[in-house]
Amino acid sequence: MKTIYIESNIRQHPRTLQLLERIGSRSEVIECDHYSEVFNPKGQNFRIQKQEPALIIAEKKGDLVLKTPEGFGIGGEQNYYFSHMLNCLYDCRYCFLQGMYQSANYVLFVNYEDFKDAIAKTAKAHKQPVYFFSGYDCDSLAYEPMTQFVHEFIPFFANHENAILELRTKSTNIKPLLAHDVIPNCIIAFSFTPKNISIQVEHKVPKLA
Ligand code: SF4
Repeated sequence: MKTIYIESNIRQHPRTLQLLERIGSRSEVIECDHYSEVFNPKGQNFRIQKQEPALIIAEKKGDLVLKTPEGFGIGGEQNYYFSHMLNCLYDCRYCFLQGMYQSANYVLFVNYEDFKDAIAKTAKAHKQPVYFFSGYDCDSLAYEPMTQFVHEFIPFFANHENAILELRTKSTNIKPLLAHDVIPNCIIAFSFTPKNISIQVEHKVPKLA
């Protein structure tokens, strides 16, 4: 990771500091007021950026949990998504993320506690099971060594029984999952593509043997 942008307001956030420690001192760190200054400008070249994306560490504000579009779900009636991260380590040519954002840089929102509060409030507002999709704008597992997303959210969901987490991934880095007890309200969703197709369109995705 050559460059890391950090919103000034969360420069001293404990998760920011842990991230910087994990990455080490090899990156240039640049502060900004808001992640959109770096992420949103028009005219960025997605394909060139994808070769060496920067990491943008930010704080998510506004609506942290959103209703999924009509028809999106896995059988439940109440469906929401939340995005602790924007963009993906992998490079699938069919991925909607490639047309979604101006930038291929990774945005990581480190205020997990606010996500947890929003999820807990949303789950409490319903009597029936509520589904939360974490893999809407990223792969939820692939960047685990940096995000610690599984480490943080599996124990959280274990304490919120009517909240069901769908953790969507193409990663084979399952060690972080195995480190936790199985909970009935977490669905790990993998998608697999035949190797000959994956080689052509799923760059950097682990291949089926
Ligand atoms: S793994 Fe999923 S999120 Fe990542 S590039 Fe491929 S389709 Fe997109």
